[in-house]
Amino acid sequence: MAEQKRDYYEVLGVDKNADDAALKKAYRVLAKKYHPDVNPGDKEAEKKFKEASEAYAVLSDPEKRRKYDQFGHAAFEQGGGGGGYGGFDFSGADFTDMFGDLFSDLFGTSRSRARATNQPMQGNNIRTSIRITFDEAVFGCTKELELNVKEDCKTCHGTGAKPGTKPETCSKCGGKGQVVMTTQSFFGTVRNVQTCPDCGGTGKVIREKCQDCHGTGYVQIRKKFEMDIPAGIDNGQCIRKSGLGDPGYNGGPRGDALVEIVVGRHPIFQRQDYDIFSTVPMSFAVAALGGDVVIDTVDGKVVYNVKPGTQTDTRVRLRGKGVPTLRNKDVRGDHYVTLVLQTPEKLSKEAQDLMRKFDELTDDSLHAAEKASAEKNGEKKAGSKKKKKLF
Ligand SMILES: [Zn+2]
Ligand SMILES: [Zn+2]
Repeated sequence: MAEQKRDYYEVLGVDKNADDAALKKAYRVLAKKYHPDVNPGDKEAEKKFKEASEAYAVLSDPEKRRKYDQFGHAAFEQGGGGGGYGGFDFSGADFTDMFGDLFSDLFGTSRSRARATNQPMQGNNIRTSIRITFDEAVFGCTKELELNVKEDCKTCHGTGAKPGTKPETCSKCGGKGQVVMTTQSFFGTVRNVQTCPDCGGTGKVIREKCQDCHGTGYVQIRKKFEMDIPAGIDNGQCIRKSGLGDPGYNGGPRGDALVEIVVGRHPIFQRQDYDIFSTVPMSFAVAALGGDVVIDTVDGKVVYNVKPGTQTDTRVRLRGKGVPTLRNKDVRGDHYVTLVLQTPEKLSKEAQDLMRKFDELTDDSLHAAEKASAEKNGEKKAGSKKKKKLF
């Protein structure tokens, strides 16, 4: 062993008195983080995963843990003085049994499971997406969903066998649908129960295939469904439609359709969770003197009274004008409006004169400093140019 092995308790980050629940919890966190399925091709993660798995395999076994506590890593080294225990390896260990339940809830249904024959099993889920507008997401809508659906072939009634013939029992697995495979893993040789490759787990093989479905037992058809999309749904969220997935195996229920919602952009509104954001221009006169601006909301136009002396980029909140929440559509987010001062660009001669007049009349500190510098340099023209830039 070239590399110094880390202490198993240290690897899992638990103390020496950790109970089974604490070990399992610590291992779950590490396994989830470093599992090769999550980090494909990452050698470092693979190493960490192997290290954590080895630590867990030892510490979760009372007998091995006792040995380890007594002798440390030496207990499992080849020819080590482990009291006749011998080398520790995983040969013959049933990987599925040891970690199966742990991984099935770690990774949900995405991990492929060995399919037992004659056991009713739910069909596969199918994934699709549907595009809706910003407003449809805010207020909800009903959409037509078109799916490629697998249905039982009417010619062979779903058996896949040519009419007049029957599927035969698979000789490779003897009808069990499963075979025991020996594979190499990080731990050495591992026995694993797998779906029979010859019959795909059905336990049956078809000698003469049905011509209409090519032996699959089903036909693919395009089918339309109505789908209610709730108010408040957001881009990237998924709606599960039970029973619209692929047919089940051996009489099991159909899988589900998982429909991802893709929400189009709105020309003026942005959304964050249940709040809506937009900007609205206000004229210089309205900003200075106060007055009404018209604000577009998802409920239509709203007149908002701007207070005198409002600065640019002032944000105002329109309570309850945001997006309805999924939980309760009567509870809504807010709409935040940023009021942006519009600097006039093309002014008539008269307006320009008034603006200059206005500027002379507003004698705040900014102007005072400017006038002082203009007088000092005796450059009246430069001063006026500078003033023009202010508006
Ligand atoms: Zn058929
Ligand atoms: Zn088979």
